[in-house]
Amino acid sequence: MKISDRALGMETSPIRKLAPYAEAAKKKGKKVYHLNIGQPDIATSPKFMEAIRKFDQKVVAYGNSQGDVNLIKAIQKYYEAWGIHYETKNIYITNGGSEALEMAVFSLCDPGDEILVFEPFYANYTTFAKLGNAKITAVPTRAEDGYCMPDMATVEKYINGRTRAILLTNPGNPTGVVYSKQEMDMIAEIVKKYDIALISDEVYREFVYDGTYTSFGTYKELEQNLIMVDSVSKRYSACGARIGCVISKNKELCAQFMKLCQGRLCAPAVEQVGAAALYETPASYLEEVNKEYKKRRDTIAAGLAKIPGLVSSQPKGAFYVMVKFPVDDAEKFAIWMLQDFDVNGETVMIAPGNGFYATPGKGVDEARLAYVLNCEDLERAMALLAEAVKQYPGRKI
Ligand SMILES: *Cc1c(COP(=O)(O)O)cnc(C)c1O
Repeated sequence: MKISDRALGMETSPIRKLAPYAEAAKKKGKKVYHLNIGQPDIATSPKFMEAIRKFDQKVVAYGNSQGDVNLIKAIQKYYEAWGIHYETKNIYITNGGSEALEMAVFSLCDPGDEILVFEPFYANYTTFAKLGNAKITAVPTRAEDGYCMPDMATVEKYINGRTRAILLTNPGNPTGVVYSKQEMDMIAEIVKKYDIALISDEVYREFVYDGTYTSFGTYKELEQNLIMVDSVSKRYSACGARIGCVISKNKELCAQFMKLCQGRLCAPAVEQVGAAALYETPASYLEEVNKEYKKRRDTIAAGLAKIPGLVSSQPKGAFYVMVKFPVDDAEKFAIWMLQDFDVNGETVMIAPGNGFYATPGKGVDEARLAYVLNCEDLERAMALLAEAVKQYPGRKI
């Protein structure tokens, strides 16, 4: 049997790649602090369970392809609070933000078309692009510059006749960067100049720790070019619900989303009821969560500052920080921590950075850390990490 080049060309998740080493370490009785995966430990808003318990229909039937009307209404209301107005016809409910990203790629790209990203970037973007036979073109950003965007002329060098979209995460995964007004204005200018799409992945919108957040949804001039990707996964700590949405004010794009929605019949019916209830979660829930993550952000930043030779951006949003370690190879370092290192039976797991880059050889000495542990555990993990850097045979200092 022949397997497709498309499937063979896909990569395994850099976040899950080292899982067998972690399993082996745990079997030996080691305690592993997981900084590698972005699964929040925050309790899901109880509104979700309440709504699911009340679900009492006789048949779990197919729903509307576009999505549950109540959920779409709830999302409209949510956006109004951000000063963004969407009509019902602009919003398509998807199987998580992941399917929203797939629909964006499928609607925009033919084989060989290009999607511009800023590297390091969310590794699954490569998977979504490859599914659509599209190509990722990566604009480099550097740890030393805090992973900020290069100037407009530099970005334009990566644009050509096959470029269909700019795809970005704001706040950023894996970098924790929140783009400035200037950076956003520059992106808007480029998008208009070349008349390409902007796929704005804003699933971490509420997770900003310094200052306020501006959504690309507020850019009037981008209305016809913007594809908004959103999800309840991170906002309400409901990753397993698999409910997201793709939003556009471009009529022609919406017609394509509708066909794709019809092709997969509908998004999960029961979970959509739960998700609609999530949007009734009081603002105080999100404020509490934000406060907790801010504490964690401060804890991890303080811990990282104490490790000599380490370069990191000040994490400003989401719950990640990308770090450049003074080591030969962050993947080897990560494996060594699981296999050969411990302090009183405890160690740390990190996500090697190379998987967040498209350019071969890049990010070899970098890693992504997710601060999804409570502050006490984070402090311990940082102390372990500092000790590991000191003892690692491939250290550069
Ligand atoms: C988690 C995540 C998503 C979407 O996840 P879903 O669970 O499919 O909604 C999308 N983009 C980024 C950058 C993420 O970190």
